[in-house]
Amino acid sequence: SDHALVYPASPAEYDWSTHYPAFAGSGKTPAFADIGCGFGGLLITLAPLFPDTLMLGLEIRVQVTQYVHDRIAALRATSAPQISPHPSSYQNVSVIRANAMKFLPNFFPKASLTSLFFLFPDPHFKARKHKARIISSTLLAEYAYILAPGGLVYTITDVQDLAQWMRAHLEAHPLFQFVEEEELRKEGKGPILDAVYGSTEEGKKVERNGGEKWLACFRRIEMHRQA
Ligand code: SAM
Repeated sequence: SDHALVYPASPAEYDWSTHYPAFAGSGKTPAFADIGCGFGGLLITLAPLFPDTLMLGLEIRVQVTQYVHDRIAALRATSAPQISPHPSSYQNVSVIRANAMKFLPNFFPKASLTSLFFLFPDPHFKARKHKARIISSTLLAEYAYILAPGGLVYTITDVQDLAQWMRAHLEAHPLFQFVEEEELRKEGKGPILDAVYGSTEEGKKVERNGGEKWLACFRRIEMHRQA
């Protein structure tokens, strides 16, 4: 249950400086959000690649969130410039415990995200549980709101039925357009795609078990109004 979760009343009220002290006063808010980040493998991989981009993981499980928090704190401590010269001091990555199905727009300002990740989300196999899926028409309206036009949604799963579900919902939404992996690689998104495929704990597990992975990416497009 959510009883212990606290949500900001609006994104303007959220104080990101506790998450990213090195960026305090920069006015920056997270641009990458990893929904259901699990043990944090994606963001830990991306953080050094985009040291000026703030990244946030959202995770509902208390212990898992704490684990990611401690993992980031340890990386920050051991990669501090005075200890080891390192391309990243992981100052740009953080995690919060949150139910991502609730109040996302209270954390993220409108059009503030450039990338939204849904990596190996829980499949909720039974039909009566489909409303618990993290991709739905209602939630897509929120994702479209917090994403900047041109921003990207990355989805990947080893569950074929869920892959079809996510793709069908995203393709049906007027603000999202499917983008081929090849096109994204041409745009320089290769390192992100590689991390999406292989950097997370769940993605590695699927690899160990020889499972298949279905990737689908979508661009948040501008609404073209008809005259
Ligand atoms: N993305 C990670 C990876 O690829 O390793 C984790 C995948 S795991 C199968 C799904 C994760 O989503 C779990 O850690 C779960 O606790 C989290 N989760 C499920 N529902 C959530 C929600 N409503 N809000 C935030 N996190 C959620």
